[in-house]
Amino acid sequence: MSKTNNLNSLSQIIKDELDKYGHKIDSSNVGQVVSVGDCIATVFGLDDAMYGELIEFPNNAYGMVMNIEEEDLGVALFGENVTIKEGDTCKRTGRLVSVPVGDEMLGRVVNALGQPIDGFGKINATEYRPVENIAPEIMDRQSVKEPLETGIKAIDSMIPIGKGQRELIIGDRQTGKTAIAIDAIINQKGKDVYCVYCSIGQKNSSLAQIVAKLKKFDALKYTTIVGSSAAEPSPMQYLAPYSATSIAEYWMHQGKDVLIIYDDLSKHAVAYRTLLLLLRRSPGREAYPGDIFYLHSRLLERSCRLSDELGGGSITALPIIETQAGDISAYIPTNVISITDGQLFLNTDMFNSGQRPAIDSGLSVSRVGSAAQTKVMKSVSKDLRMALANYHEMLDFSRFGSDLDKSTKNILTHGAILTEVLKQKQYTPLSAAKEIIDIYVAQKGLLDKVEPNDVHKILKLLSNSIKAQNPEIFENINEKKVFSDEDKANVEKRLNIILNTVKDNLLNEDNY
Ligand code: ATP
Ligand code: MG
Repeated sequence: MSKTNNLNSLSQIIKDELDKYGHKIDSSNVGQVVSVGDCIATVFGLDDAMYGELIEFPNNAYGMVMNIEEEDLGVALFGENVTIKEGDTCKRTGRLVSVPVGDEMLGRVVNALGQPIDGFGKINATEYRPVENIAPEIMDRQSVKEPLETGIKAIDSMIPIGKGQRELIIGDRQTGKTAIAIDAIINQKGKDVYCVYCSIGQKNSSLAQIVAKLKKFDALKYTTIVGSSAAEPSPMQYLAPYSATSIAEYWMHQGKDVLIIYDDLSKHAVAYRTLLLLLRRSPGREAYPGDIFYLHSRLLERSCRLSDELGGGSITALPIIETQAGDISAYIPTNVISITDGQLFLNTDMFNSGQRPAIDSGLSVSRVGSAAQTKVMKSVSKDLRMALANYHEMLDFSRFGSDLDKSTKNILTHGAILTEVLKQKQYTPLSAAKEIIDIYVAQKGLLDKVEPNDVHKILKLLSNSIKAQNPEIFENINEKKVFSDEDKANVEKRLNIILNTVKDNLLNEDNY
């Protein structure tokens, strides 16, 4: 009896083992390359592949599913030396394309896949994040109410940017767009804001210069640079801003404030157009594919300020768009203008005439408005835009007549001084206190008797004198965010002394 039992259980064990050994071949995980060319592979047999999934090819080559059709898949290939050929097998990885994230990324230059390209070796990141993520929901966000200081007088006073805001920098070529973004990064030093600079379709030499500058101003240590040069294939250029945002998002979810620059999204749109035309998607307006709006809206929606329950972190985005001959009504510019919370419009004529940064106060807006300004900045700069608008109107008008009445002349002199005060050299972002003092004395008309050429000299003397005699004024504005009547009186006193000395010097010069 027990012998039969033993035999039964033995046969059962064998049966069970055989069941486990089912020869199930999962054919859906292996596919075959049907055709390949121009960084696109058409793949047959990967029926269950997801959109955006990473596909592995022989020789460690990878691609991303960009097109799902009835019979086959369109896979965008990464890397320049892809050695894939027709008939090769490829595998699903079951993963979406991801990049390494975390503090290990600070100070590094990486490509669109998060691989280092700065020659400083491997990045020992422990965490990864998919390049595409769903943007936080409305209930997970809070309103933008804290300033992100760029250190550029014209921006912080008239078109303030808040933490969590998306502000477009738009203008023709060579109008100082990148310069504004880099100055904003340099100004975050010591302010506990991490930065991500994403370069899309630029020359490698331009990127190298930017890296060198950030290093020189000690700004690289809190910055990650994601570079995809013009020489790289379009899938890498397409991917770069999404990867950069994932790196920023990680910090935002840790409760940090992050500043991200996309330089520039016009080239990103062109890379996407190239990619989708190669994938044979039908072209629409200006040959861009139909979902070009979604390309940028899903990217920029990921920048926001999270609610306090989620840690209160933020991503402030400064996308850059290049216009042709100042035309902001073209397809891509209007798309991105409508996605962002305002724009800084850079005027070519102003730039060429030496008014730099060439921010056109008439066409630039910040829809977040003065909610993103400190009370002090708000109080000193509230009349600035109006004064400049009056000045530009009168300037046009005064060209027709030489006989101007006194009030027109006053508006012209005051406006000329204001525009002079708003000029600022590259790589010299200013502290809030310096900006506020400069704008305070200028908008109050205290410099109206000075020659425009001397304005910067006098402002320099003024800040030196305040630093020497009343250093508490800088501290009060920068730390306590107050500019008391007493401090204002002291600033005026210092300015008067300087103006009198300068006047005396000029008289002396006349005497000799
Ligand atoms: P591109 O369209 O080629 O990307 P861009 O609009 O980004 O150009 P930048 O490269 O930032 O422009 O600047 C163009 C030139 O103007 C550079 O040589 C830069 O040094 C100079 N420049 C920019 N801003 C200022 C400034 N505030 N003061 C003086 N020079 C400036
Ligand atoms: Mg540029």
